[in-house]
Amino acid sequence: MHIIKSEEGEVFDIELEEDLLKKNREIADKNRETLDSHKVLAIDVMGSIGSGKTSLIEKLTKSLKDRYRISMIAGDLTTTIDADRIHRNEVEVTQINTGKECHLDANLIKKALNELDLEKTDLLFIENVGNLICPAEFPLGSHKRVVVISVSEGPYMVVKHPYIFIDTDLVVINKIDLASSMDVSPENLTEDVAKIKPDVKVAKTNCRTGEGIGDVIRGLEL
Ligand code: MG
Ligand code: ZN
Repeated sequence: MHIIKSEEGEVFDIELEEDLLKKNREIADKNRETLDSHKVLAIDVMGSIGSGKTSLIEKLTKSLKDRYRISMIAGDLTTTIDADRIHRNEVEVTQINTGKECHLDANLIKKALNELDLEKTDLLFIENVGNLICPAEFPLGSHKRVVVISVSEGPYMVVKHPYIFIDTDLVVINKIDLASSMDVSPENLTEDVAKIKPDVKVAKTNCRTGEGIGDVIRGLEL
């Protein structure tokens, strides 16, 4: 079999130009200062479309709303479906529609932080655009990063997307109720994650029922 490996920078991709990434990191650092000055803890939730990011945030919001004043920034190409769902639970939500862009960046978060009432927020969830590739390259200024994967994405989910796990604090393996019917082992996925990042925390969940949400809360030290 012939294998063609692209060199770094060979594929035309304007997003990956080094100075743009540097600029993004600078704005991310500023975002962190803004969040810290208002004593807001921000958590970036990343994962594929349909992995359960919104369900996770919904369950966390319900469990934590008596202890924290919670806000959300929802990233999506064009819709407000997820934002509307969280907003129903009386959480302040700012929608970012990225159009054709497949990730959030620090500048978009800076704009959203201007819209949110940070003085009335203790905990901020940022739902990234459903994508496991470029969000890894664009820190937003959040304090913690969570990756949600689900067993319905198949057994090679982790090994095929190693970069997203490198700067992650917690990996959520969702839809564990479907593991046997999908013939995917959550334990194998956990081992794959550990090979990429040995000290990362892993929580196994069913975000429809709330199973495992306590482990996520403990994993995030909330
Ligand atoms: Mg969602
Ligand atoms: Zn992207």
